[in-house]
Amino acid sequence: MTIVAHSIAEVRSAVIQWRAEGKSIGLVPTMGFLHEGHQSLIDQAVCDCDCVVVSVFVNPTQFGPGEDLESYPRDFDHDLALCQAAGAALVFHPDAEELYYPNRSTIIHMADLSEELCGKSRPIHFDGVCLIVAKLFNIVTPDRAYFGQKDAQQLLIIKRMVRDLNFPLEIVGCPIIRESDGLAKSSRNTYLSESERAAAVVLSQAIAQGHKLADSGERDPRAITAAMRTTIEREPLANIEYVEIVSQEHIKPLDGLIDQPILCAIAVRIGTTRLIDNFFFDPNA
Ligand code: AMP
Repeated sequence: MTIVAHSIAEVRSAVIQWRAEGKSIGLVPTMGFLHEGHQSLIDQAVCDCDCVVVSVFVNPTQFGPGEDLESYPRDFDHDLALCQAAGAALVFHPDAEELYYPNRSTIIHMADLSEELCGKSRPIHFDGVCLIVAKLFNIVTPDRAYFGQKDAQQLLIIKRMVRDLNFPLEIVGCPIIRESDGLAKSSRNTYLSESERAAAVVLSQAIAQGHKLADSGERDPRAITAAMRTTIEREPLANIEYVEIVSQEHIKPLDGLIDQPILCAIAVRIGTTRLIDNFFFDPNA
């Protein structure tokens, strides 16, 4: 039976019981409208941990003004059914008042790593992500927490926060789950019209192209991103926000050739919908 908890107190009492029974705990933070990408994280957590908590919470502090907080898709009945079928022990579905005091004063500012890529157009986004994730870590006290490589900058930032703030847990990164044509699964794909959905495949095509170039020995980041840009620009419905190669360590552009583990990441608007995709590459692997 999957427990449904709306309050922090309900989560804490389940956690106390599990700990008394000597059980390990996994956490999968999500914003709901779950799909196979989320499910792959839950499956991995169920495989690794005795008890898995899935949080379903559209976190207001990570949305900027004019972003899609209100229109973000929600379907809790579907989410709960997916979590139950996947074997989650508890689904945490609080409202914003349960998690945020009206006079809260604490912020977590992720310096450096949040300045490039998505941080440029979403300046408060990663501080909001760090705040909610830190709160969930303190509420659930997991042994492991699972994040998708789909949000690669977020994954690197959470790993850095855990290291810097000494959270006693392990971050597990999980591969990107894609549709059959390559489009990375995302709750936001639901915003796409039929023609936009067809155009959106250009993101994964550019990612595959860039990855292939790196695999075949290309070490000039500009050559790789230029080829990817050309591919994306061929699609009339696509508008590039960024196509960049950064170091995994600093999330900053490289000075010269690719000589260290990199993240190649893109953000592209298809119509009004902003989509992201990426690949990691290590030239020394
Ligand atoms: P979200 O609900 O969009 O905040 O995502 C919750 C978690 O699921 C994050 O760690 C995401 O990176 C992960 N995730 C979302 N889409 C995918 C996907 N297509 N493949 C793997 N993980 C994903």
